[in-house]
Parts: sequence; C-alpha cells; structure tokens
Amino acid sequence: MSSLDGPDEDNPLGKPPVPEDVQDAIRTLIRWAGDDPAREGLIDTPKRVARAWLEYCQGYQEDPAIHLSRIFEEVGGYDEVVLLKDIPFQSHCEHHMAPIIGKAAIAYLPRDHVVGISKLARVLHGYARRLQIQERLTAEVAQCIWDNLKPHGVAVVIEASHACMTARGVRTPGVGMITSRMMGTFLEDDRSRKEVLSLMGY
Ligand SMILES: [Zn+2]
Repeated sequence: MSSLDGPDEDNPLGKPPVPEDVQDAIRTLIRWAGDDPAREGLIDTPKRVARAWLEYCQGYQEDPAIHLSRIFEEVGGYDEVVLLKDIPFQSHCEHHMAPIIGKAAIAYLPRDHVVGISKLARVLHGYARRLQIQERLTAEVAQCIWDNLKPHGVAVVIEASHACMTARGVRTPGVGMITSRMMGTFLEDDRSRKEVLSLMGY
C-alpha cells in the first residue's frame, strides 16, 4: 500500500502526519546503509520509524517527578526499605541511538510517607524513554526520588546490555553493565547498603 493514499495501517488513530523533512532524513539513512528507500518494502518505513522514535523518546513529553506527587501518609509505622526489583526497561544510547535493554532495582527508605509501588517504575521509564547513557539514567532516577519523596535513603542499581556494544563495535553479546547510585542512609551506612544490595540480589 502506498504511503500517499488510502488508510495507513500503521496509523489507525490518525495521528498527526510525519513531516516530510523527517521522512527524508530516514530515506537518506536507508540510502546511506545501502538500500533503496523507493522499493516496496521500504515505502512506509520512514513514517513507521519516525513514529517509533516518538515512542522511544516519549520521556521528553513528561516530567517524571509527576508520578511521585501522590503520596500515602498512612504507612502503619512502616520504616523499613521499600524495594521494586527486576523492573525491565528499554532506552537508547545517546552516542549511537542504539537500544539499551536491561532491568533496574529501585529502593528507598521512607520518611513518613510512601508512593504507589508502580510509580517507581514510571519514574524509571520517564527517564529511560530518552536518549541516555546508563550512568545518567541511574543518577536521574535516584535524584528524582530523593528530591520528591525526601526519604532517608535511595538506592538504584541498573543492569543493562547496550546494542552499540553487543551488535557492533567489539561485538560482545551477553555482556552487561552495572551502575548504581546510593544516597542518604544507603550511602553513609555500610550495613544499610549491604542489606539493600542483598535484597536486590547483588
Ligand atoms: Zn552507544
């Protein structure tokens, strides 16, 4: 089906059209890679790629802190660690725009109030759906929780593989990178840090 007429199966909701200059840029990239953007299988690819990139980078449309604005103050005296682990995420590295695929563990030590547990994952996705480096992603998630929940401590550990390393360059499939950011009690107190890392499985 031509991209110029008839319904677009990839755009059933009638999203705004992809500007011609954006499509042209993707056609240029296809040509640069060695293929013909005019051949049938690639005709609608520029539009699909452009829309896919809007999804990959949805994080630019939001302030992740918004997910931490609704807090619960009735915690029944609970003052131990709250941990969400094995949260899968996808991001894209800002150096190659290649996928970063991994999982995160996010913990905090509440001070008087908590948030719905799914909100921690939303904060992660808000920063992951941008062009990133893993180090900054880790730091941004931790800082956002620190600033908005004002907890006693925050611990974030991210483990991911980078397609720019596994699928090109040194081509080392299976290799994973681990980054961590500890704040407050988890930074200052060895026992707390060891405890949270062990709960996370490290
Ligand atoms: Zn990269």
